[in-house]
Amino acid sequence: MSESRLVIAIDGPSGGGKSTLTRLLAERLGYLPIDTGAMYRTLALAISRSGISPDDEGGVEQLCRKVEIRFLRDDGSYRVIADGEDVSQAIRTPEISMLTSRISAQRGVREILLKLQRELGKEGGVILEGRDIGTVVFPHAQVKFFLSATPRERGERRFLELLEKGSDATLEETIAAVIQRDEQDAARELAPLRKAADAVEIDSTGVTIEEVLSRMEQVVRERAKSFE
Ligand code: C5P
Repeated sequence: MSESRLVIAIDGPSGGGKSTLTRLLAERLGYLPIDTGAMYRTLALAISRSGISPDDEGGVEQLCRKVEIRFLRDDGSYRVIADGEDVSQAIRTPEISMLTSRISAQRGVREILLKLQRELGKEGGVILEGRDIGTVVFPHAQVKFFLSATPRERGERRFLELLEKGSDATLEETIAAVIQRDEQDAARELAPLRKAADAVEIDSTGVTIEEVLSRMEQVVRERAKSFE
């Protein structure tokens, strides 16, 4: 298998650096990055706008089946398009983060996205980032990473992102929200946040992005050799 056809799974808790590293690694390797969290967020946004109760699992599933999600590359960044609308900003609020974590525990929602994610990744040459990529979506991915960092560091990263967007959330609130979301994601019955047994774990606390990126690239290149 050539290097350009691998499936790379990147999992881990929120704020562990998945999005940034997925994007950078994809650029280096010429791979397609797929942000599966953005897909769950897009469905959560549709639910919040629809007025359907998040607890109405039947209604939620019916609505989610109708949402068309696409990624569009625009000037080096990836935009998330739902039914033709660019929702890239709207899906990143603290409220949508919490709602996403809630609805992502539902079987119907997970089934819809599981199918879509497998379809998007089936040709290889992709990096999927999320919570269950190495355990459920692509359990046979050739390369798996689990990115972590201390809750404080992850909360601080999230806080800086929110600050840039003009949010008035406090640092302590953001850290608490990150911890709560991870607990929910790890405790759920279906596809919980968990490190796959064969994933390479990287703790990025106090380590630069560049260092983590080099380490990941080295792991990918070494793994690729064994598939040649
Ligand atoms: O990665 P991000 O913070 O955007 O993910 C938002 C939420 O989507 C997570 O807290 C989790 O509940 C859900 N998610 C998931 N499975 C994935 C990716 C995200 O359940 N593969």
